Amino acid sequence: MINFQYVRTSMVKTALSLAEKDAHSAFIAGGTNLVDLMKRGVIAPEKLIDINYLPLKQFKLINNTLHIGALATNADVAEHEIVKERFPLLRLALQAGASAQLRNMATMGGNMMQRTRCGYFYDTTMPCNKRNPGSGCSAIGGYNRMHAIFGTSENCIAVHPSDMCISLAALDAVVVIAGTKGERKLNFNDFHRLPGTTPEKDNNLKKNELIVRLEIPTNPFNKNYHYLKVRDRSSYAFALVSVAAAIVINNNLISDARLALGGVAHRPWRLRAVEAFLKGKQATTANFEIAAKLAMEGAKGFGENDFKLKLTPNSIIEALNQAKSKA
Ligand SMILES: Cc1cc2nc3c(=O)[nH]c(=O)nc-3n(C[C@H](O)[C@H](O)[C@H](O)COP(=O)(O)OP(=O)(O)OC[C@H]3O[C@@H](n4cnc5c(N)ncnc54)[C@H](O)[C@@H]3O)c2cc1C
Ligand code: SF4
Repeated sequence: MINFQYVRTSMVKTALSLAEKDAHSAFIAGGTNLVDLMKRGVIAPEKLIDINYLPLKQFKLINNTLHIGALATNADVAEHEIVKERFPLLRLALQAGASAQLRNMATMGGNMMQRTRCGYFYDTTMPCNKRNPGSGCSAIGGYNRMHAIFGTSENCIAVHPSDMCISLAALDAVVVIAGTKGERKLNFNDFHRLPGTTPEKDNNLKKNELIVRLEIPTNPFNKNYHYLKVRDRSSYAFALVSVAAAIVINNNLISDARLALGGVAHRPWRLRAVEAFLKGKQATTANFEIAAKLAMEGAKGFGENDFKLKLTPNSIIEALNQAKSKA
């Protein structure tokens, strides 16, 4: 790990101007991903701007929209009364992530910005287009059991690792971003990117911009919902496949549906066509099976991750059945 400077401030404006002045700086929140990356030499910022003292931990319900500050911890959000009652899908996804200790440190903004867990990205002796653009992708033809089956490119087949983000994609959250010229908003589903020809870019946040809060509209998805995470161990493991599923059912008829997948693409993989198919259908396993088949259009395995081609539709059916059967 190389030497670096450390600064901290309690003002968003100062944090932004400090970042603008120094091209080799990085914001640090909980540090649970950033410090790992620094220790392994994947990144080497010369200045860390500690944002933990910024006033960005708020929870406010304003005009039927929940505002959550970017520095609220994953643990605090999961335990908040409003989240428990109105956004239980987000709570389930948060609880499925990492460990209790990590969730106490991990922040909402940091969770969104966490880097992929592709082993080659962390191994600085190996080619990796995300770490070192143009060097090649070691996972294609290499060890790719955890990797993507949707939206891949010849440059990168990594997956986005977050659980929380899969639920936020399903819930149509909005990201509020601050820059030196003011604030802008981005739909959560437009925040993360596919790898394309620029796998080094995980998302559409510009250099020196700061995530300041998330806005989640209240919704009817707090009765029949489920977050299913399939992983190698029951805790402390990233998703092989995960499904955020929520449906609104009246007399066994589905009037609205939300579905997003994790562990299968470079960004949370929202299934809008499948949601459209489910609307107006009976909530039956037979219809969930058709939905799962539809979800798999365009999926492609890379050898070791071929099992995801079967695991994913089975997980979708299971998540929908679990959502349906919630009391
Ligand atoms: C052993 C282990 C297991 C894990 N398992 C899971 C899991 O199962 N599921 C899961 O979802 N996650 C898992 N995680 C990841 C964990 O959730 C993330 O490390 C955490 O959410 C990152 O948040 P942080 O506040 O610590 O971010 P930091 O490490 O402080 O920062 C991460 C990145 O975000 C940037 N950043 C932070 N805040 C902002 C902001 N407000 N605006 C702009 N940029 C910002 C930083 O500059 C940095 O680039 C695991 C982590 C570990 C170490
Ligand atoms: S999948 Fe992406 S992150 Fe992994 S080695 Fe290939 S380019 Fe790097």
